[in-house]
Amino acid sequence: MIPPKTIEEIKSTAKIEEVVEDFLNLKRRGVNMLGLCPFHDEKTPSFTVSPSKNIYKCFGCGRAGDSVSFIMDHEGYSYTEALRYLAKKYSIPIEEQQLTPELLNEKLIVDSYYLINEYAKNQFSENLFSSSEGKNIGLSYFKSRGYVESTIKKFDLGYALSDGKDFISKALKSNYKKEYLESLGLASKSGYDFFRERVMFTIHSISGKPIGFAGRTLKSDKSQPKYINSPESEIYNKRKVLYGLYFAKTAIRKEDECILVEGYTDVISLHQAGIENVVASSGTALTIEQIKLVKRYTENILIIYDGDSAGINAALRGLDLILEQGLNVKLVLLPTGEDPDSSVKNMGYEKFKQYLADHAEDFILFKTRIMLEEAGNDPIKRTRLIKDIVDSISKIPDTLKRSVYIQECSRRLNVDEEILVKSTNSKIRSEIKNRQKQSNPDMDYNEETALIDKQYAVSQTDRYTKGDEFQELDIIRILVTLGHKIYDEESNTTVAEYVLANLNGILDNFDNELYQRVVNYVLETTKNGRNLVPNDFITHEDEPLKNLAITLLSEEYSYASWENKGVMLQTQKPPDENFIKDSYQAILRFKLKKVLSSLEKIEKEINTTEDTEKLKTLIQVFNHLQQERNQVARELNTVVL
Ligand SMILES: [Zn+2]
Repeated sequence: MIPPKTIEEIKSTAKIEEVVEDFLNLKRRGVNMLGLCPFHDEKTPSFTVSPSKNIYKCFGCGRAGDSVSFIMDHEGYSYTEALRYLAKKYSIPIEEQQLTPELLNEKLIVDSYYLINEYAKNQFSENLFSSSEGKNIGLSYFKSRGYVESTIKKFDLGYALSDGKDFISKALKSNYKKEYLESLGLASKSGYDFFRERVMFTIHSISGKPIGFAGRTLKSDKSQPKYINSPESEIYNKRKVLYGLYFAKTAIRKEDECILVEGYTDVISLHQAGIENVVASSGTALTIEQIKLVKRYTENILIIYDGDSAGINAALRGLDLILEQGLNVKLVLLPTGEDPDSSVKNMGYEKFKQYLADHAEDFILFKTRIMLEEAGNDPIKRTRLIKDIVDSISKIPDTLKRSVYIQECSRRLNVDEEILVKSTNSKIRSEIKNRQKQSNPDMDYNEETALIDKQYAVSQTDRYTKGDEFQELDIIRILVTLGHKIYDEESNTTVAEYVLANLNGILDNFDNELYQRVVNYVLETTKNGRNLVPNDFITHEDEPLKNLAITLLSEEYSYASWENKGVMLQTQKPPDENFIKDSYQAILRFKLKKVLSSLEKIEKEINTTEDTEKLKTLIQVFNHLQQERNQVARELNTVVL
């Protein structure tokens, strides 16, 4: 326990620029200091440190805070760990005597546990490198996997001897408590070593301390479990641990992506091959706690599945958890018979990276595709599929993201968008209702429905206000990804020119500023007679514009890889062949939205104005807009009330 007075002292002593400069270079810029953000990948510095305010803020990714939060974020430390780090840096003594006897005792136990695991780790390592059994069996196994010595040492790999009492007798001789050895699962009650004749993997905490072990047998004896793990203890909670995170955290942040694999050896092999942003959930199904751990470093998860993963559908269901946390999930399926370990060895770094880039598919779209292949034309399976996809989409907390998925899935499933919207909303409603029942079982029925309706109304307004942006994004997507294509060969018109010409008059009406900037840029470029290519957007100096373009274009690339795999939906043409129809509809939808909101505005004015001349004009405009609305709606084949 750190006394509050000391916490204050630490916080007021720590200078943000000094704390940050231990990890990155800062350059003075006026009253502030600037550097490359360690929390996201960037080429031009937007990480700003304000010595006078004693805080930092990144204008790229939005991370901000003080010295303590910087250390927590950067090093993955807990609050207390970060305070201790800073206290050490500034030589501020922490008086610990405020601990109660119970807390003191608990702390002593925890400290002893770490010491014992450290001791065990060293023993296992010594066995591996110095005993003949360890060398012959353990070391040769690791070498046969292709691990070099520096990797073996870095990951604290080791070997547990077959003797059965070797470890425990040495540990007792070194005065480690038998009781503690048992609680840590290093010794059995009957006085034998728990890990025998196994190669050993050390499991590290985020700050690199050994908190547990996994032992793998090399015997083909089926009666023995392939892996055994340390039991849970005060320092080891399986649900809260990701294997390899200590070694991966910096790379995860740099790459802004966390790769998730199934086994310890996958983590180590990829790491050795140079892919360091990789962790494993090691044996357990992915837990909420593990996802939250990942979220400290990135919002993007890429899951690699073995090519022959049986029951992939069941695995997919578990992934809704990640969506609930607001993370972006992509999946990659390896070729049949391969796992990450073997793949990276066969392909090598470059090819493997390329494979991941080419085959990563958005989770919901992946799920849609897999299930669609499976369902074929079976109506019952198709209904279940739609329900399943709706379940997943309803888990996404972000309204806008949800809308994008609904739109995309309606296209791919060939189901009316409105139906998906309705089912998703009703799913969300029933989830809210369930949660309320759980938290307050005695709630009066009327009270309950009133509350739900209120929340529902809020989420509907949300949808409504963001609605325009939704149509706007559609236009932007077409301009960025398809703008350079030829729309009409005879007149040599590009898609961009066609879209702009059709939106003449409402081109300044984008609600979203960023989208407006894209439109302005396209307008300017095409005015000068230049044909836009996607690369113009990717290299654009406007950072948010550039990022938006990259996102949109990478979505397009995933279509392409989809096609390469030869798996196309039967109901749907590839987006490329559809682009003319897509562009046309997007324009109509956008127009309709704009006309509707103008109508609404003018109607209000008509109801409030007292100027009869103005009223006359307003009514004329109103009638004109109504006609336009009807025409657009007819073309869209939509009934407008
Ligand atoms: Zn940043």
